[in-house]
Amino acid sequence: ALTVDTLTSWMNDFAGKIEANAQYLSDLDTPIGDGDHGFNMKRGMTAVQEKLQTKPTDLQNGFKTIAMALISTVGGASGPLYGTAFLEMAKKTSSTDDLGELLDAALKGIEMRGGAKPGDKTMVDVWNALVPEVKNGTLTQEKIDAAVEASKDMIAKKGRASYLGERSKGHIDPGSQSSGYLFQSLLETEG
Ligand code: ADP
Ligand code: MG
Ligand code: MG
Repeated sequence: ALTVDTLTSWMNDFAGKIEANAQYLSDLDTPIGDGDHGFNMKRGMTAVQEKLQTKPTDLQNGFKTIAMALISTVGGASGPLYGTAFLEMAKKTSSTDDLGELLDAALKGIEMRGGAKPGDKTMVDVWNALVPEVKNGTLTQEKIDAAVEASKDMIAKKGRASYLGERSKGHIDPGSQSSGYLFQSLLETEG
């Protein structure tokens, strides 16, 4: 079961990874997008960290705070999508504090909001591959790396990268990489 303290540690760890890899994430976004993904996420996670300095009263409040900070600061395509993910997790805490179930609700929210399906070379691919691993208790760094790497050979069907069609092939999807960091932080926090 997820607690407010674990959620806070998870987010602080994720913020650290985003900060350390902001340039890399924006570099991934340069050939197939507009080169801002790392900077967008860094702005967002800095805001999240600031908000979480005040301890949330409960899990729902924590998820809501994170969602609102992301929605109001990240921007682009990824802001509303990550925001939706955390908002759906906030809603789901009314019935469960099981991490796998929360993440499942987040994935459904991302798919609903952005209309992307697995195989469209978006963050959905990483969530779709890794949420079941969390549910089964079988998440590993190898599986995270493989899920991120799998985006490389896909042809983008959604988002800016889709404007490139076939030429989007051969590049890791930036949103898949940032989602990979989210799961990596989860693995390190939970582990
Ligand atoms: P923008 O493209 O507006 O500059 P970002 O660069 O911050 O936004 O985020 C780009 C990432 O968002 C992509 O790498 C992809 O993973 C994700 N993304 C874009 N559109 C969608 C969508 N419709 N559904 C899911 N994820 C998406
Ligand atoms: Mg971008
Ligand atoms: Mg942009």
